Amino acid sequence: MDLDVVIGLEVHVELKTRSKMYCSCKNEFGGVANSHCCEICTGMPGTLPNLNKEAVQLALKAGLALNCEINNRTTFDRKNYFYPDLPKGYQISQNEAPLCVGGFVEILLNNGTQSKKINLVQIHLEEDAGKMIHSAAEDRSFIDFNRSGVPLIEIVSKPELSSAAEMKAYLETIMNTMRYLGVSDCKVEEGSLREDINVSLKPNGSPHLGVRCEIKNVGGINNAARAVECEIRRQTEILESGKEIEPVTLRWDEEANKSSVMRKKDAVVEYRYFQDPDIPVIEISKEEVEEVRKSLGELPVQKVKRLMRDYGLTFTDAGLLAEDQEKIQLFEATAKTGEFAPQKAANWIQGDISRILNEKNIRLSDSKLTPQNLSKMINMIDQNKISNTAAKIIVERLMQEDISPEIVAQQEGLLQLSDQNSLKEIAEAVLAENPQVTKLFQEGKTNILGFAVGECMKRLNGRGNPVLLKEIILDLILTRGEV
Ligand SMILES: [Zn+2]
Repeated sequence: MDLDVVIGLEVHVELKTRSKMYCSCKNEFGGVANSHCCEICTGMPGTLPNLNKEAVQLALKAGLALNCEINNRTTFDRKNYFYPDLPKGYQISQNEAPLCVGGFVEILLNNGTQSKKINLVQIHLEEDAGKMIHSAAEDRSFIDFNRSGVPLIEIVSKPELSSAAEMKAYLETIMNTMRYLGVSDCKVEEGSLREDINVSLKPNGSPHLGVRCEIKNVGGINNAARAVECEIRRQTEILESGKEIEPVTLRWDEEANKSSVMRKKDAVVEYRYFQDPDIPVIEISKEEVEEVRKSLGELPVQKVKRLMRDYGLTFTDAGLLAEDQEKIQLFEATAKTGEFAPQKAANWIQGDISRILNEKNIRLSDSKLTPQNLSKMINMIDQNKISNTAAKIIVERLMQEDISPEIVAQQEGLLQLSDQNSLKEIAEAVLAENPQVTKLFQEGKTNILGFAVGECMKRLNGRGNPVLLKEIILDLILTRGEV
């Protein structure tokens, strides 16, 4: 059976504010259970919430970056339901007039050769719930309110994603954009990026959507992809066996790598939304919106496109560079000063330079590396003045001090010997001591040249120019052959 996959997402992104959504408690992951909560975020009767302006600002940034319209008058509503991690008996969310409506996320597919716009319904602000901890050992449950009242945005998409791969690209784009804007750190292990995923299947090309099932509260991106692939398989098997899909809500078990049915989906959940009388209508002027819009700068997806277009970088390299503003700056300045293919600069930054930064646990700005020195070093490799191996040693020094790579190469004896006469002398000696080289070469075993180059390099302590050496050896063998 040929089936189309339809996926819609509700992405929860915890905001990186200093304090919680409606009180001044610290917004910080972890800590001793119930050590950062107060009477407001634990929902004591008679307390009044106080809206966090920073959260509204961050949500505004997120909405503008994802091309939403901004409601100049936004309201907060109570979403009523009972759960032990929600002590008020309701969550303060947005229903009637959410801060951001419409919009889209542009995702890049097939190694950046294609793009697709995934339309959004809205982005609204709400508060997170506390955390239930179920202890099998003690046969009881605990509750930690440290997360209760942490601000988050919910990004609601239309059902327009058609594969796990598209969903992954969508989530990665959101994650990169939120990190870049400082809206959220999107730390998967701390649960600051979570999704509710709706999946349905329909006959290929059919205009009618199939029955959808929802996978609740999946953490991160790879998990979500696995959960969706698993759900597509489950629904395909049901449909192929001629049965009908039952609308259910599923729970994803990351450790077991499988989902289980939590409950049958209720027809319509009635939350009895009404405007929260404790939070005033928030008015945001057009000028304020425009000011935030101007402050956004170049977004990650725009950066990736530009790096591919202007420098011919691969999608992967452009994506990796786009995650780090300092790396982009180094890359662009290096590429502009050098006479080499920009990809070479990207390779060094993604390769040895990133490795050294990781090992030392520092940022690029903590190192002494300048674009001029990096550029000179790559030029030296291209001109056969140093080998790639030597450059690996040189780049370590360049990160520790602002010094010319030429000086480092001289000091450390890393300059390649390109002097024809001295190389020829050594090559002659090697050929004289190893007469089998000439013989084997003449018998057609041209691989033997590699051995001869290796022998010369040993005598030169690895400093010979291998390309030149090969040429010289070949020349010597051919000349002798004629004698
Ligand atoms: Zn509090």
